[in-house]
Amino acid sequence: MLPETIVPKSFKELEIYPDREERHDDREYRHAHHILVNVEKHPCFWCGKTKEEAEAEGNTLETHHWAEQSLWHKFDQALVYKDLKWLDFHGHAKDLPDNSADLHANHIANLVVSCSTCHRENGYGLHGATIPFVWARRWLKNKSDDVLKRWKPLHVHVKNALFKVARKKGSIN
Ligand SMILES: [Zn+2]
Repeated sequence: MLPETIVPKSFKELEIYPDREERHDDREYRHAHHILVNVEKHPCFWCGKTKEEAEAEGNTLETHHWAEQSLWHKFDQALVYKDLKWLDFHGHAKDLPDNSADLHANHIANLVVSCSTCHRENGYGLHGATIPFVWARRWLKNKSDDVLKRWKPLHVHVKNALFKVARKKGSIN
């Protein structure tokens, strides 16, 4: 039984994945990802975990397209451009093209370093939770605060528990 102050909610969303042909220059994406994660070594924008910390938990650092790649063809690029300028996730707003018409989804300023859980985990990540929930993680005094994590679905808790046991036994590093 949950306390009255906690209201569980669920929602359904249909996510669109782009066809290969709709993707813009994967090479540029891979290069921008490499710069952010391996060269500049940005941690997860949401929970602050470094690449090493994420990998120790069996996760990785990924890069999320802030303006969704699959919806890019529907966007007014000038509006996306304006937002990327002030959001400036990893200091690359200065690298935006002079003309917003030259902007594309794989531009480094449109990528946000996100560990795999903060990126995709159902009930927790950018693709599986709501904006207030995900942004709140950035501002926690105690990064391991369980107030938000408690909303992970049961199967995730089971997966994490099994991972911890396996790590203790030394079957995985
Ligand atoms: Zn994270």
